[in-house]
Amino acid sequence: DLVDESFKRIAAVDGDVKAFITLDEENARKQAEEAQSAGKTGILSGIPIGVKDNIVTKGLRTTAASQILRNFDPIYDATVVNKLHEAGTITVGKLNMDEFAMGSSTENSSFQKTRNPWNLNHVPGGSSGGSAASVAAGEVPFSLGSDTGGSIRQPASFCGVVGMKPTYGRVSRFGLIAFASSLDQIGPITRNVEDNAHLLEAIVGIDPHDSTSANVPAEKFSANLTGDIKGLRIAVPKEYLGEGVSEEVRQSVLSALKVLEGLGATWEEVSLPHSKYGVATYYLLASSEASSNLARFDGIRYGYRAENADNLIDLYKKTRAEGFGDEVKRRIMLGTFALSSGYYDAYYKKAQQVRTLIKKDFEDVLESYDVIIGPTTPTPAFKIGEIIDDPLTMYANDILTIPVNLAGVPGISVPCGFAENGLPLGLQIIGHHFDEKTVYRVAHAYE
Ligand code: GLN
Repeated sequence: DLVDESFKRIAAVDGDVKAFITLDEENARKQAEEAQSAGKTGILSGIPIGVKDNIVTKGLRTTAASQILRNFDPIYDATVVNKLHEAGTITVGKLNMDEFAMGSSTENSSFQKTRNPWNLNHVPGGSSGGSAASVAAGEVPFSLGSDTGGSIRQPASFCGVVGMKPTYGRVSRFGLIAFASSLDQIGPITRNVEDNAHLLEAIVGIDPHDSTSANVPAEKFSANLTGDIKGLRIAVPKEYLGEGVSEEVRQSVLSALKVLEGLGATWEEVSLPHSKYGVATYYLLASSEASSNLARFDGIRYGYRAENADNLIDLYKKTRAEGFGDEVKRRIMLGTFALSSGYYDAYYKKAQQVRTLIKKDFEDVLESYDVIIGPTTPTPAFKIGEIIDDPLTMYANDILTIPVNLAGVPGISVPCGFAENGLPLGLQIIGHHFDEKTVYRVAHAYE
């Protein structure tokens, strides 16, 4: 029944929202029957789910929203997809995103522009724009996104839903098409915090296929949602309410802090002094890693292959020139430059050193506090086309989410009121490494 409802809703609204790149109704029904006949009765059993299109699904087209993978049908499932099948969820289709997860608006998809369900003239955020919009539009109750510099939390904030980036290593990246491997994490997007906790529980754990997955026991994040946060110590970084953050966003966070105070928490202003270098550090490191990770798309091993090439080098060149979009090429060039001999020490190595300082800022603050709280984004969702021609302004949108990836700590975005233009705002709650439990408890108490 839930699968029927999901496809009905998709038929009614996806022509406007354009969240899905690929739908798989036949297979979804087969999965639903299998889950039923296997007698799966877990809490996630029979729940329709949408999967971001950079997470590989066996036999189900997976494009990363790129022309270079437009005909790519993977031969295996990502670990998270396997785990969800075990839990009995039903994959209804693959969700739109910025090409290779590079972007903050989903306008970099080579297929279609996803629209914000709250106002179709606005972006849903990105890069997991399809994942957030599909949940906000009621097409699916659950989706998976990926977050390298904010790509789960920022679209969740723009679309008024809940999005969690887990601790780096909490969730296996096996089968996630790599963008920046030291930052990428898969995470859940849902309508409320409790659903989110259940979905994360199903996908966590060490995985022999991912050497960076952590050997930390899975926890019942959903068991701790008592509403009790008495005595909780909250840190509010002054950099997160300062310059560049709009007044209405600042006010929404201050009112959220009042609510949390009313529940018995206390908050103090702190400083994350190096977070101002976050965006610059991130774009060096993420582009460097991307330039290396994307070398595998050569026209031989996966997906699209250019025609009429004279020789092997020409085939590589033509395939990549025709297959990658502008933003992806920009990052590959930036990353290749930063990793070149002669520049490596000045750029890549320096950025790694600054990353260590940013991480240390978080560790220092978290020594005396349970969570760090601030906005998810400096502004509500902008209009489609508004900043797409200005990459630096687009990059600055992630100023409040990027440091969390650089530090590797968990962060969630929960809805936090509305802006004057009627679009949702998000509250970001950041926790200690592997303490998603507290992050969920606070998010749930606030929600
Ligand atoms: N907007 C950031 C970027 O373009 C973050 C993307 C992401 O988290 N995947 O790199």
